[in-house]
Amino acid sequence: MSAVFPQDLPLAELHAHLGGGVDAATMWELAHQQGIKVPHRDYWEFAEATSVGLGTDGLDGLNRIYQLTELIQSSPEGVEVSVHGMIGGAYRSQRITTHEVRFNPAKRNRGGERDLDAIVMAAVHGVDRATLEYPVRAGLILMMDRSFTAELNEAVVERAIRFRDRGVVAIDIGGPRPRGAGAPYPYRDLAPLVARAREAGLGVTLHAGEEGVNAPDPGPYIEEMHQVIDLGVDRIGHGIIAAFEPRLAERLAEQGVVLEICPTSNLKTGAVRDHEQMAEIVYGLRAAGVQVVLGTDGPEMIGTRLRAEYSFLVGRGALSPTEAVEMNAAGHRASFLADEPFRGARAG
Ligand SMILES: [Zn+2]
Repeated sequence: MSAVFPQDLPLAELHAHLGGGVDAATMWELAHQQGIKVPHRDYWEFAEATSVGLGTDGLDGLNRIYQLTELIQSSPEGVEVSVHGMIGGAYRSQRITTHEVRFNPAKRNRGGERDLDAIVMAAVHGVDRATLEYPVRAGLILMMDRSFTAELNEAVVERAIRFRDRGVVAIDIGGPRPRGAGAPYPYRDLAPLVARAREAGLGVTLHAGEEGVNAPDPGPYIEEMHQVIDLGVDRIGHGIIAAFEPRLAERLAEQGVVLEICPTSNLKTGAVRDHEQMAEIVYGLRAAGVQVVLGTDGPEMIGTRLRAEYSFLVGRGALSPTEAVEMNAAGHRASFLADEPFRGARAG
């Protein structure tokens, strides 16, 4: 694919998970450093097993990889090395200068053995170190989980509020639905937590509308997304089902909700049928006036790079090269870091 961006164009990455964003070599070494038994024969097998191939079992495969990477990252040291490595690596490889990294601290504290505050503090240190070394603006999004109890999700939001002025910029929710339950997940129950986060000045972006695009009955997934819009979110992770539901697209456009779309991720998990459908989704949403930004979901796990995501959509005619440049610029503006001063010593 030919490059659509000049090499020195600074990019904005607004949707990347820590569990899928750290290169395999760093993760391999981190596992050994911490004495974690890795269920793979050698480095190569490990590297392949932590990357989603085409035709795997979709979101389940993704969740299996997350379990391993989250285990390796389950200590203050592991989190700091990972956050630092991910932000620095993204700057060197893709020149990403606006970078939001999301993770669930309560999935990295070994079931409560490690202190949640220590985990978040370690992530803050990782951001600080990276912003000292590179001219980047970086921040953290703390994730709740759909399989968590209300109390545990509340504990995550409390940490986000506590570290609000130290690099945490927003909250999110992801993960499988509780006990194999189907959609709809009761997003509306999150209203009190969302309200508290907002009051504290945090941004809100929630995972929704990723599944159901080709489902025989997309109704429950559409319902989830309506509930998320009702919560008054700033952005939505994926939200691609809105391309097939005019009322959803209309509401997103009206309320100025930004969709963070990760094309290669959607293809590799099977959320979207093929390249053509992916291009149609992005084209259709934009034609309906919905604001869209692109992310990778986690470049190492998904096996992609942010620049390749833009090239793919331009190559498929979903965006013109000029629109791609504009979309990236919009990403810098839509970031929860947009109003933050550069904190790094090199960025001033
Ligand atoms: Zn995601």
